[in-house]
Amino acid sequence: MAEQQRHRVVIVGGGFGGLFAARLLRRAPVQVTLIDRENYHLFQPLLYQLATGILSEGEVAPPIRHILRRQHNVDVEFATVTGFDLQNRTVTATRLDDSERRHPFDSLIVAAGAGQSYVGHDEFARYAPGMKTVDDALELRARIFGAFEMAESEYDDAARRAWLTFVVVGGGPTGVEIAGQIAELSRGGLKRNFRKVDPGAARVILCDGGKEILAGFGDRLSQKASNGLAKLGVEIRTGCTVTDVHALGVAVKAHDGSTEHIAARTKIWAAGVEASPLARLLADAGGASTDRAGRVEVLPDCSLPGHPDVFVVGDMMSLDRLPGVAEVAMQSGMHAANTIKRRIAGKQSVAFKYRDLGSMATISRFRAVVSFKGVKLSGFAGWLVWLFVHIAFLTGFKNRFAAMLHWTNTFLFSGRAERAITVRQAVGRVVIDEAGGQESLRIAPPQARP
Ligand SMILES: Cc1cc2nc3c(=O)[nH]c(=O)nc-3n(C[C@H](O)[C@H](O)[C@H](O)COP(=O)(O)OP(=O)(O)OC[C@H]3O[C@@H](n4cnc5c(N)ncnc54)[C@H](O)[C@@H]3O)c2cc1C
Repeated sequence: MAEQQRHRVVIVGGGFGGLFAARLLRRAPVQVTLIDRENYHLFQPLLYQLATGILSEGEVAPPIRHILRRQHNVDVEFATVTGFDLQNRTVTATRLDDSERRHPFDSLIVAAGAGQSYVGHDEFARYAPGMKTVDDALELRARIFGAFEMAESEYDDAARRAWLTFVVVGGGPTGVEIAGQIAELSRGGLKRNFRKVDPGAARVILCDGGKEILAGFGDRLSQKASNGLAKLGVEIRTGCTVTDVHALGVAVKAHDGSTEHIAARTKIWAAGVEASPLARLLADAGGASTDRAGRVEVLPDCSLPGHPDVFVVGDMMSLDRLPGVAEVAMQSGMHAANTIKRRIAGKQSVAFKYRDLGSMATISRFRAVVSFKGVKLSGFAGWLVWLFVHIAFLTGFKNRFAAMLHWTNTFLFSGRAERAITVRQAVGRVVIDEAGGQESLRIAPPQARP
């Protein structure tokens, strides 16, 4: 089929939803343009390992164009999508130098994911990075390792304790995993590296507003996870609401109403998500509604009401109260791609049916909890399942191989291969905040250069 006659599919986002949709269109008679504001596909479930020095950014975020290098019907565009015109069927994207491109489409799949939600307190973000992007994880890595460095050269006892206190907000899988890893790092990975402070004396406090951590895993696994973290020395505070976050610490309110100030230099926000701002933009363009998390409400086949050729998948999609997990994103992305193929073949679309493949979280090395169709695993058995699933899903042979080498180093010898930090990483968020929140550095056009 000649190029210009091909059905044009634009995919926004090269995360789990967008990438799996693109791959499924490999042999379809379509021309795909995949637009992402980053040049990599991020394996978000391993971000906590990037933040704690186990894996490098290259291992959790391989380049999208490398993953798709053999798929000749895909063009990858490095740009930020800023608008949708559903009447004229175009997507507007802004490049790094502020120039705009319009991408015409016959079918559109929007998979721009979700960001961190600070539940009405965006001002907390400056002092408590979330963990959603490579930038977040690198910044956290710089703050975590930087805190131990600062403690080593601190004269004042109280100030040193504040540097050695880490507060993690949110007891879901992300919060549990990062808290466990900071504890493990301080008790093992940094041993004998410092002269004046004992990194093992670090306090790791995990705060959650609910009555138990990992609430979605059920009482038994939640209790196992609590016990595992307690053994590592993590202080778990349930029924605990964080009411203020600032440079030197956090204010918390317990379920009995009592309040406390915790002096802590490093705070990590792992509570709450909200859909990408593109969800609102798309909903407005298409006359659709969004739910409380800002996700676009779609029809059973993942299409936008009144726009059968526009699909919303993954964390941006609101359908049957499906959770924001990688499996939903992959399966819904593939479903949208399949629907496009069916329509081209003159067939009707069918409803999306989600196959629940369970959930898991690591507690420490050799310990994880897994919940799958009523089967609950914990300890070493759970960890083996975790290892198998993550090796299977890590994209690309090189990444798998490198990750396995680093895991051997960490799990067997408590080593952390990725400990180099830069001051720019540690202060990036504050500098951007002070510059008025402008996130991307614009490359000046030639005429503006001296
Ligand atoms: C720390 C962490 C741990 C997690 N752990 C697990 C886990 O253990 N198991 C599990 O199942 N799920 C886990 N998840 C959830 C899972 O990663 C998400 O559900 C999944 O990534 C959603 O896929 P998606 O394609 O919808 O969005 P994403 O994977 O977030 O991809 C969205 C893509 O869109 C791009 N994008 C966004 N806005 C624009 C724009 N304006 N223009 C161009 N591109 C844009 C982004 O750069 C990104 O590449 C975790 C998430 C996080 C943050």
